[in-house]
Amino acid sequence: MRKPIVLGNWKLNGTAAASDALVASILSGMPALDVVDVGVCPPHVFIPQTVHQAAHTTLAVGGQNCSEFTTGAYTGEVSAEMLREVGCRYVLVGHSERRALFGETNETVARKTHLALKSGLTPVLCVGETLEEREAGQMNAVVEGQIQAVLNEIGIAQFERLVIAYEPIWAIGTGLTASPAQAQAMHAMIRGVLSTQNPAVARAVRIQYGGSVKADNAAELFAEPDIDGGLIGGASLKAEDFLIICRAAADSLR
Ligand code: PEP
Repeated sequence: MRKPIVLGNWKLNGTAAASDALVASILSGMPALDVVDVGVCPPHVFIPQTVHQAAHTTLAVGGQNCSEFTTGAYTGEVSAEMLREVGCRYVLVGHSERRALFGETNETVARKTHLALKSGLTPVLCVGETLEEREAGQMNAVVEGQIQAVLNEIGIAQFERLVIAYEPIWAIGTGLTASPAQAQAMHAMIRGVLSTQNPAVARAVRIQYGGSVKADNAAELFAEPDIDGGLIGGASLKAEDFLIICRAAADSLR
């Protein structure tokens, strides 16, 4: 049985005070959710205060991105090792906004995944297709290519140590959600790709769904057999909604 994982991606939002209040609300409403892994990914500068607040709780903290380099003259970069040092457990790699707006290629994402693993972080490998790619029937090939680049870099055995987030780009921040059947089909396809190399790893790896997951649609998505929780953008900025989504993940195990 795979343990569902729900992560909030706060993106470029908030202030130190707002982050503090959001974490406090999440913590005060967080049930004993030991059946689900729950975490938040604040902007980098708010990570230390979030780690401090979440100490001695089950709320984990993650980065939204890490550098493809370890150290050196890379102004503005933050390494996976630095994230681990300040208390992160997770780091998102290859979010579609990073791929589209900051030029990250499949190979860049693969290097980041490798460094995150080396640093002891759990990378959350984000994959997904554009609407044009879906309409052209290319979604399987696109997502398979994104996975394959990481397989080439780290090998199948390491996939047990990461989380995959399937996020159709057309559903991110748009209010459009993949139907449970559409999402399930892609999750099963991803598991199938991994299964050709190692069926046990394919069965074990957790695959989250992301793309306009809300309090009112989380349960039906998480009920699908290959969907192991969610990567939540907009709805993670409201503690009440985020907590409903976390509970939906817990209920999906029943
Ligand atoms: C995301 O940014 O990963 C995401 C899924 O955003 P939203 O939930 O707002 O669509």
